Amino acid sequence: MTEPDTERFLADLHKLRSFGASGIGKGVMRPAYSDADLASRDWLAGRMAEAGLTPVFDSMGNLFGLSDRPGPLLGSHSDTQPEGGWLDGALGVIAALEVARCVPGVSVVSFQDEEGRFGVCTGSEVWSGGTPQDEADRLSDDDGITLGVARRALAERAGEPVRPDRFTGYVEMHIEQGPVLDSCEDVVGVVSDIVGIRDMLITFTGQQNHAGTTPMALRQDAFQGLAAFSTALNDALRNVVTPQTVWTIGHVSVHPNASAIVPGRVTFSMQWRDGDKGRLHRMEQVVRDTARKVADERGLQCSFGEMLGLDPVAMDGRLADALAQAAEEVVPGKWRRMPSGALHDATNVARVLPVAMLFVPSIGGLSHDFAEDTDEADLATGLRVLTGAARKLVS
Ligand SMILES: [Zn+2]
Repeated sequence: MTEPDTERFLADLHKLRSFGASGIGKGVMRPAYSDADLASRDWLAGRMAEAGLTPVFDSMGNLFGLSDRPGPLLGSHSDTQPEGGWLDGALGVIAALEVARCVPGVSVVSFQDEEGRFGVCTGSEVWSGGTPQDEADRLSDDDGITLGVARRALAERAGEPVRPDRFTGYVEMHIEQGPVLDSCEDVVGVVSDIVGIRDMLITFTGQQNHAGTTPMALRQDAFQGLAAFSTALNDALRNVVTPQTVWTIGHVSVHPNASAIVPGRVTFSMQWRDGDKGRLHRMEQVVRDTARKVADERGLQCSFGEMLGLDPVAMDGRLADALAQAAEEVVPGKWRRMPSGALHDATNVARVLPVAMLFVPSIGGLSHDFAEDTDEADLATGLRVLTGAARKLVS
């Protein structure tokens, strides 16, 4: 039985980091379809071929390294945020490559545009049939470039479509991107589910007025409404949520946003995440009821935008158990089951395959930042757990 080569795995990880290296710490700038992304995919295709896999690009630029037989698909994504870390996505791809060298029957994938230059996990979204290619092609980035134009850079590499039914399941190793593992004794997380997300805009409309002459008692101040809503919501949610539930008002637009004018209108994002679909729904009722109540008390109008979101995805029991058994063999008693608060390609792939995920610690819980890092001993531990699980899944 071939054991994974930790030095070769770390050397490959550092080589991938050199494509788009920011020069600040271990930071990387390798957005989807950038020159650095294209060069890194060509390098990765070469490494796949050297490992005995057949490299195949699809129409999106997702890069597969195919085994000559049916089996599990392992991987993640290798694009980064405009200012990203060296492990987000890259770890799962390079670990999958090393496992494929040791475990015959394992195929590898690097999905394209997980970080959302054009959408949310666009490469796996199209591959799993969530959005047709021609529809996705109309998505555009912040500079107005469409996906259809951007992916031309990879068009001549595209081969035959890769059908999901040649794989028996999908396993994604990833950094946690949160503080849980870093602040406990456990070094591996076996993901139980990927949380669902709900997102909508809320608008309070009051009366814009002079900030000097309008008495406090007569104001219909939309921003004061938002402040009261935020506090009231924290109270109202207390009996609905668990310690894992999160909610965020992350974007606020105050009109007319001037220091001498009582704000007449405020529009803000209201986002919440939880692993339980029923709880997401109950939270929606609380959000709407609280917003209406606060608006009524203050003489404001309240309106709600379209409800967006993704449902929670439970991990496949057989795949997750293979990871759990491997974790217990490699680090007995030093692993835990835990939800994923971040979205991953596995959410999309779950449409077409059973999926599971494995987490390793993020130092300080940091990610989407040049400072993102993980102890190399923890990276090696994750690699051994992934290898152990893959052996169970091919046999
Ligand atoms: Zn990622």
